[in-house]
Amino acid sequence: MPFLPSVLVDDDGIRSQEALRRMLKEDFGVFTASSVAVARTIMEREDVQIVPTDQRMPEVGGVAFLNEVHEAWLDTARISIPCYAQANQMDEMQAILMLAQQVNEGRAEVENEFMRAVTPTGNRKAQALMAQVFELRERFEWRGLGEIPHSALRIRDAYAAFDAERRFELGYRSVADNRTCECGAILRGLKRPIDCKLFGTVCTPETPMGSCRVSSEGACAAHYTYGRHKDAQASAA
Ligand code: SF4
Repeated sequence: MPFLPSVLVDDDGIRSQEALRRMLKEDFGVFTASSVAVARTIMEREDVQIVPTDQRMPEVGGVAFLNEVHEAWLDTARISIPCYAQANQMDEMQAILMLAQQVNEGRAEVENEFMRAVTPTGNRKAQALMAQVFELRERFEWRGLGEIPHSALRIRDAYAAFDAERRFELGYRSVADNRTCECGAILRGLKRPIDCKLFGTVCTPETPMGSCRVSSEGACAAHYTYGRHKDAQASAA
């Protein structure tokens, strides 16, 4: 059996992930991850040559994750691709071609296939509109992470008529996770879902206890669906 380079498709869109897996499986060993936490776990355990990543991963941006990969696995080819629903299939094919070229030429670089829409400086017009309508909040509480200063937006006074928080006088209500929940550490990449005592016992898809499980794209939900069988195989070996 000839050596097949390994690809880790990091994409929280299951359909895009599956489409890429089907396209690549003849020529590559394919791993898939629906979250950056799962992708990190795979990177630590497997010898991965190529990492195509959705630009819009939920926990940290796809490009930020690719930078992490660059730091830790210098020889791994990385590419940011637009794997959301509107993406043209030609973009995906072009991205795969660029990946194959990197492998064949022994390169490992971050490349942007979607340059007609995503430039290094971003969409200046959209940024100006966002700055006109929104301003930074002094602080915002994120489930699992706690309060982080200047980490969220609110609507400026000039547009208060469009602000549901003000129109309907919605007060802020903090929702605490279970004290044993390790979501904060998992979201920061310090722990894995299986390090949580509640994983798969108290905290299941039917009884979600923390923010990493509530969303089907959360790290614990993704690991429960895709990663735990591999964990079981590894501990049995
Ligand atoms: S398994 Fe549940 S309780 Fe544990 S870290 Fe994940 S979401 Fe939190």
